[in-house]
Amino acid sequence: MTGIDDLPVRDELRGKSPYGAPQLDVPVRLNTNENPYPLPEPLVERIAERVREAARNLNRYPDRDAVELRTRLAEYLTDTSGHEVGPANVWAANGSNEVLQQLLQTFGGPGRTAIGFEPSYSMHGLIARGTGTGWISGPRNDDFTIDLAAAEKAIAENQPDVVFITTPNNPTGTAVPPETVLALYEAAQAAKSSMVVVDEAYIEFSHGDSLLPLLEGRPNLVVSRTMSKAFGAAGLRLGYLAAHPAVVDAVQLVRLPYHLSAVTQATALAALEHTATLLGYVEQLKAERDRLVTELLALGYEVTASDANFVQFGRFEDSHETWRKILDRGVLVRDNGVPGWLRVTAGTPEENDAFLDAVREVKKEQS
Ligand code: PMP
Repeated sequence: MTGIDDLPVRDELRGKSPYGAPQLDVPVRLNTNENPYPLPEPLVERIAERVREAARNLNRYPDRDAVELRTRLAEYLTDTSGHEVGPANVWAANGSNEVLQQLLQTFGGPGRTAIGFEPSYSMHGLIARGTGTGWISGPRNDDFTIDLAAAEKAIAENQPDVVFITTPNNPTGTAVPPETVLALYEAAQAAKSSMVVVDEAYIEFSHGDSLLPLLEGRPNLVVSRTMSKAFGAAGLRLGYLAAHPAVVDAVQLVRLPYHLSAVTQATALAALEHTATLLGYVEQLKAERDRLVTELLALGYEVTASDANFVQFGRFEDSHETWRKILDRGVLVRDNGVPGWLRVTAGTPEENDAFLDAVREVKKEQS
């Protein structure tokens, strides 16, 4: 039987596995940092209306530059950060994964490297590989904060072309203070005028503020965002970035023409009309996240301080076995391969109760 190895696939892809969070049909799914709340009915109606309008023009290609959408995204960023962002600063694509891919196609590629501080979002390394960019795994402290001195040293030694900073970090939930981001930006500029990509996929759930104001006067800084988490629209596939207009011009060199469908643009515009309601759900999820932290600590687990819509908890001698025991009780959490730790996404209060019941039972069984 023909397998991958029998095909002339690129050498760097041989023996590798695709991104693969299990999509299992279990009662409580808290494994992919999705928002548990379905979109509210008035928004569903508005999406239907906007998509109906868009459908009348589907014989035409969509707005290639997604100007109306970028304008509304810029308004959202300005309103929520207090930092003035205009449509020329914003670029959108199919999920922030595509935004990150476009950034690596533009600023990485064969003969170039990117660095991330791991454990972090595994797709940074996978997209690097897919774009032929060399991947450097930078260090973290034992408490999962970034080890600044070690990170600066790694940047100086390796002179990467792209530096990824994820805040709040996935899978640990750890926020990165602005001083650390500034120091890493300076280190990256001193090493190679590298691009620094701040992945803020979960920033709306943070106790702290967005790093958008740092864009002022820093043309090599990029902030990437998504509607998959706070906007509860993972199925929409809409990610975006904010940066100097020159960065937006640069990524247009690699984007496929008409990459963002008219249906996607119409749906995202409808969702942005309902920002206030959706951000209300974010407040509920933040409270549930904090409750998960409190209750896990009370049960005797260790918990990593979280600024995201998920919590990393441990420690387990065999995290995969514990993952399986929780799954046996109908709750799917995530084993990210961080030895000793698992990650649970904040769900609805009922889902979180089911999760807490499951881990309480597992704890009893294991002690
Ligand atoms: N960045 C981080 C840190 C993430 O955790 C994720 C999704 N899990 C993404 C980016 C990508 O999200 P999307 O492509 O849905 O925007």
